[in-house]
Amino acid sequence: MKVPFLDLKSQYQQIKMEIDREIQSVIDSCAFINGPATKNYEKNFAQYCGVKYAVGVANGTDALHLAIRAIGIGKGDEAITAPNTFIATTEAITLAGATPVFVDIHPATYNIDVSKIEAKITAKTKAIIPVHLFGQPADMAPILNLAKKYDLKVIEDACQAHGALYHGNRVGSFGDVACFSFYPGKNLGAYGDGGAVVSNDEEIARKVARLADHGSLVKYQHDVEGVNSRLDSIQAAILNVKLNYLDQWNERRRNNAYLYNEFLKDVEGVITPAELENTKSVFHLYVIQVENRDELMIKLKEEGIGTGIHYPKALHQQPAYEYMGLKAGSFPVAEQCVSRYLSLPMFPELTEPMIKTVCDAIKKYVA
Ligand SMILES: *Cc1c(COP(=O)(O)O)cnc(C)c1O
Repeated sequence: MKVPFLDLKSQYQQIKMEIDREIQSVIDSCAFINGPATKNYEKNFAQYCGVKYAVGVANGTDALHLAIRAIGIGKGDEAITAPNTFIATTEAITLAGATPVFVDIHPATYNIDVSKIEAKITAKTKAIIPVHLFGQPADMAPILNLAKKYDLKVIEDACQAHGALYHGNRVGSFGDVACFSFYPGKNLGAYGDGGAVVSNDEEIARKVARLADHGSLVKYQHDVEGVNSRLDSIQAAILNVKLNYLDQWNERRRNNAYLYNEFLKDVEGVITPAELENTKSVFHLYVIQVENRDELMIKLKEEGIGTGIHYPKALHQQPAYEYMGLKAGSFPVAEQCVSRYLSLPMFPELTEPMIKTVCDAIKKYVA
C-alpha cells in the first residue's frame, strides 16, 4: 500500500459540490476583491477563533509582517521567537525593520522554552512571537505573564494551528494579535495563497486592513504607504465552506496521531510527539524523532511512503542568517531536534491501515 505524505484531492472530492457552487457564485457576482465573500469569511473566522476582528490578507507571511508593523514594531526593535520555525516568521520581523532574537525550544513540546525567554529580554525587546509549531499550542500563560512584566506585545504565529486549544480557548485569542496562513496544505487551506490577522483590538485590526490595502480605508485616500495584500473573494468563499469542516478534520488528525502513538509506543529509538497538559494539538504535522532519519526517509520512500522534514535546519544554521554569527551549539535543543525530525503522513483522510503500514515499515528499519 502506498501512503502519500499529503492528499488534498480526497478532501476536495468530499466537498466538491459545495466548493464548485461557491466558486461559481463569486464568478457570477464578479466581486473578486473586497467583496461580500471576504467580509463574510472574516466575520466567521473571527467568531471561530473567539476574537472580535479578522482581516483577510494575501498569505501568512504578510499576516505576520503586517501585524508586526501595525503593532508599531520596527527599526531598532527586537522580537523574540524560536529558531525551529519556518523562515516566514523571521522574514516578517526583518521586513518590518526589526531584529529577530532566538530562544531555544523545549525538548518535549518543540515550542519556545518559556524558562529561557527572560534571559533574552533587553531594553530593545518589544515583542514575543510564539509559534504554535506542528499544531501544538505554545505555553501561553507564562509568555503572557512575561509580556505583562516587561510591557511587551505578543504576536501569535498560528499558521500551523487553526483550531488548536490552550486551556479551553483557541489559539489566536491570546496575543495582542495573531496570524494565520491558509496555504493549501495547512489545516484550513485555500486553493491558492491566503492568510488572516485576528485581534480583539479594533485599532490593530484597522491598521492591518489599511496597510494591506495600500494604506487606504477610503478609496484613493492613502493615510500611509501600505502594500497590496488582500484575501481574494474566491479563496474566501472556499475557506468559508472549509471552515465548517475544520473541527471534524482536526479531530480526525488527532485520532490519526493517537493511532501512530499507539503503534509506535514500544519501538525503541522512536520518540513520538508529546501533548502539553490542558492543550489540544491539531497535528498539522506528526513529527517523530529518530537517530537514522535520513536513511529511514529513503527506506520509507522505497516502500511508497511519503515523509517530510520540517525543517532540516534551525534558522540560525541557514545561510540567510549567517550574518548573525550564531555558531553551532547556540541552541542545542533545536539543533538536535532538527537533525532527528521526520514528519510522517498526516491528513484527516488517512486511514488506520495506512497508519499501520507506515508504522510496520518504520519498525522494519529502526532498530
Ligand atoms: C506556513 C507558515 C507561515 C507562512 O504562511 P504563508 O501563507 O506560506 O506565507 C508562517 N509561519 C509558519 C509557522 C508557517 O507554517
